[in-house]
Amino acid sequence: MNKRKVLVAGLFHETHTFLDGRTRLADFEIRQGSDLLSGLGDASPLAGVLEVGEEEQWSVIPALDMRAMPGAVVEDRVVEVFWHGVRLAVELSNGLDGIFLILHGAMVSESLDDVEGEILFRIRGLPGCSNVPLCGVLDLHANVTEKMVTHVDAIVAYRENPHADAKEAAMDAARILTRLMNTREQTKTVWEHPPILWPPTGTATADEPMRSLQNLAREIESSSPEILAINVFAGFAFADVPDAGVSFTATTTGSPEMARNHLSRLAELATKNRERGNVTDAPLADVLPKVIKHQKGPIVIAEPSDNVGAGAPGSGVSLLRGFLEHSMDNSAVIIDDPDAVATVASRGRGELDTLTFGGKGSSTYAEPITLDVKLLSTSDGRFDLEDRQSHLASIFGAHIDMGHCAVIDHKGVRVLLTSRKTPPFDLGQLRSQGIEPSNLFAVGAKAAVAHRSAYDRIAVASYSADTAGPCSSNLKSFPYKKIRRPIYPLDNWTQ
Ligand SMILES: [Zn+2]
Repeated sequence: MNKRKVLVAGLFHETHTFLDGRTRLADFEIRQGSDLLSGLGDASPLAGVLEVGEEEQWSVIPALDMRAMPGAVVEDRVVEVFWHGVRLAVELSNGLDGIFLILHGAMVSESLDDVEGEILFRIRGLPGCSNVPLCGVLDLHANVTEKMVTHVDAIVAYRENPHADAKEAAMDAARILTRLMNTREQTKTVWEHPPILWPPTGTATADEPMRSLQNLAREIESSSPEILAINVFAGFAFADVPDAGVSFTATTTGSPEMARNHLSRLAELATKNRERGNVTDAPLADVLPKVIKHQKGPIVIAEPSDNVGAGAPGSGVSLLRGFLEHSMDNSAVIIDDPDAVATVASRGRGELDTLTFGGKGSSTYAEPITLDVKLLSTSDGRFDLEDRQSHLASIFGAHIDMGHCAVIDHKGVRVLLTSRKTPPFDLGQLRSQGIEPSNLFAVGAKAAVAHRSAYDRIAVASYSADTAGPCSSNLKSFPYKKIRRPIYPLDNWTQ
């Protein structure tokens, strides 16, 4: 049997449309052609697809892979560069047996509210691609659309948040692609999206309502042999697009009506539990007095409002101010501010000097902070993930680059200043910079849920606090214009 020729491409961005500015082409890590194959061996979805490709002896046609940290609306050029790469690879392939895409599912460009749907639609229009089995893997926070499900043969989404299973989900999708290439079975992917929007804080799969939804999805999958995959999407609330929010898909070789019935059960369960997913955070001023009552740490204080993994610049200083006001020495925060790194790096280590830093990149932040600080260390900011299954691996594989970094100290509160915003999903981030998180009394995490797999292991207690920042869990504070209405919790429930 000839080897199956499978085109592999990736385009990955979670777009927060309320942020100022643009996510530029230069913000994307781009691997082209055979460079893609260097992804083999890490914990990313790309690595998962390539592993299955090896197992199944596919002849992989590597097109290109583009990934960036979540952030503002993506400039149109990014989509066109990706599209050009895919089209060229298809043209040069001289016929394909399958196509596999690694997508996020909540990407918005200057001109397109549904980048992934448009890419899938365009691929189907290429010569020879209208009937080629096309499968993909999506993030659990995808805002799925009718256009997306119309043009795929099967999709599998991550089932865990934190996304410890991104690679596994990609492997499952790749195995489905192998099956479809071998059997030429016809599939249909159906979609249901109840009018529900949940902030990222409400989307952890260890908690309700996601836990029960995922359990029900697995139950349906195991009792329905014709169903190849049932996906539960929490959606991404910070994208103001018509279809943002909770949704479900089912890929079936059987009756689409039956598959729709399964999805109705999931939609009903989500509707019943909608309030449990609308998790908001207590004000910082209420949280810190509780924190200081603890005799020992580490106490983890998450700041969902400045959630780097949802696109925030990670530059807010509210928590740092709170630590200082409560004289919480032996604590640490991470703040992105490349200018401040450059300023302190030009000074000698240990010198005490005044530095103004933080509060950059979003009008939602309060003022920057000015403190007398001591420089403890500088570095190139590179580290390897300690936890290869980390949520961060689902985006960046195993090697992380925070850009030039500096660690400064003010009265026992240490600040890791980074030059590339990096979510706090792995303890190696602080350890690589000389800060042992398990020895701290308190540590800040600019995240909603995904920091938990790293920090829950060492935390004596954890809190979530509302601070200044662009990723507030209070969805009613955002000026939505495009999302379908009515939708919970923006409008009164009408059913
Ligand atoms: Zn996600």
